[in-house]
Amino acid sequence: MANPDRRQVASVTPEDEGPHEECAVFGIFGADDASAHATLGLHAMQHRGQEAAGVVCFDGERFHAQRGLGEVGVVLNREDVMARLKGYAAIGHNRYATTGEGAVHNIQPLFAEFAFGGFAIAHNGNLTNARTLRQRLVEGGSLFQSTTDTEVIVHLIARSVRHSLVDRLVDALHQIEGAYSLVALSQKKLIGVRDPLGIRPLVLGKLGEAHILASETCAFDIIGAEFVRDVAPGELIVIDEDGVHSDFPFPKQPSRFCVFEYIYFARPDSRLEGLSVYEARKRIGAELAAESHPHGADVVVPVPDSGVPAAVGYAQASGVPFEYGIIRNHYVGRTFIEPTAQIRHLGVKLKHNPNRSMVEGKRIVLVDDSIVRGTTSRKIVEMMRQAGAAEIHMRISSPPTAWPCYYGIDTPERDELIAARLDVEGMAKEIGVDSLAYISLDGLYRAMGRGRRDSASPAYCDACFTGDYPVRLVDRDRGAAGKRGKEPMLRQG
Ligand code: AMP
Repeated sequence: MANPDRRQVASVTPEDEGPHEECAVFGIFGADDASAHATLGLHAMQHRGQEAAGVVCFDGERFHAQRGLGEVGVVLNREDVMARLKGYAAIGHNRYATTGEGAVHNIQPLFAEFAFGGFAIAHNGNLTNARTLRQRLVEGGSLFQSTTDTEVIVHLIARSVRHSLVDRLVDALHQIEGAYSLVALSQKKLIGVRDPLGIRPLVLGKLGEAHILASETCAFDIIGAEFVRDVAPGELIVIDEDGVHSDFPFPKQPSRFCVFEYIYFARPDSRLEGLSVYEARKRIGAELAAESHPHGADVVVPVPDSGVPAAVGYAQASGVPFEYGIIRNHYVGRTFIEPTAQIRHLGVKLKHNPNRSMVEGKRIVLVDDSIVRGTTSRKIVEMMRQAGAAEIHMRISSPPTAWPCYYGIDTPERDELIAARLDVEGMAKEIGVDSLAYISLDGLYRAMGRGRRDSASPAYCDACFTGDYPVRLVDRDRGAAGKRGKEPMLRQG
């Protein structure tokens, strides 16, 4: 298994765990300039990962790859790169990794040369038994070159005794557990797969004769492609010269799409599972206002950008004017990505500034989508006080985040989650607000048009709020070191 433009080889321990990644995937088959389309699609999905980007394409004879640390514009959007990345089919990936080292060897898509030919693969999500499988594979002689879960799939394909590439992939998929949407490219086919519960998103689109797979529909809009449908949970899509073929290799299960994609992660102009993300956020904001509106507020202020649609819904439902009381500097990435607590503190200041004219002397309803560690909220509240806010009532458009995500959303360990340590009153005190309220779990489900949450078969994966994990956590339950596992033995720049 090789990463063609990798300069060094990583040596890893058997119990080593890949970085937990939130990512974007893109695939296109049958278009001239496939890589240029992939680059634009990845650019539209930059919010899903800014740490690294990559594209692998096929020109009918050879595969070409470009990967690097940084945003899509830096890594891919270059004339020399585009001139080299020729072909009618391509897959691409944005990575948002959370381990300290920005490991070059982990940049996707990965590429492998099998007996049957070249094969590139990229995935969004997290496998919950990757460490266990990896250990078994290493003991059996597999030599890993990265710490990403995706490589486990590559080795499982290599070891499969099945004949065709698709059968080998299905063989591998039957062994992995977790949440994933993956795209893969062979010499003849573009393949897309969504995990059996459909936790992570994947959508199918069309541009002229070309077929496209992407994490979100905003990747179609940027290239003028048309949305066809969501890839169904557990569906395997194979695209080749004859068109789109669909198969369901897993036993059917009720779907559990990640509700946090609607709350925070996806872009508001995307449409997932038949629902506009923006609409969903507004409806959650309206429900939040119905549940917990404080008396006598003057303005509704969003924490930009993620709190904006919920604040719009909140303001419309409560009749309190919406105002930009905080201005965001758009040239700073998401604060959460910063690797150390120190930088995270600084990040909030770099990113947000109070809009004094809208804050001074005002009783403010401050709307954000979630509180994770509480660092951002505490800093923002402090800033608003310094700008002269009379009262600050914080309203959160999700239930308390009390459990880590093991399915691909970056959340810290449980003891770092403020909602796991404190009750709402304790959190209000620590953050420094006059009042704090979260939307209730049933309120969230109501806003999503699902009625009350059915605890026997919830419509969504809401494990970050409930601790109800729909896919078993094999690695965690084996007691391997923490959520992130051990660091690789070799560090490289
Ligand atoms: P914190 O300072 O840890 O409480 O961070 C809370 C802020 O981070 C909120 O404003 C959210 O919009 C944002 N946020 C929540 N979840 C994530 C995530 N998984 N990745 C990046 N940012 C997040």
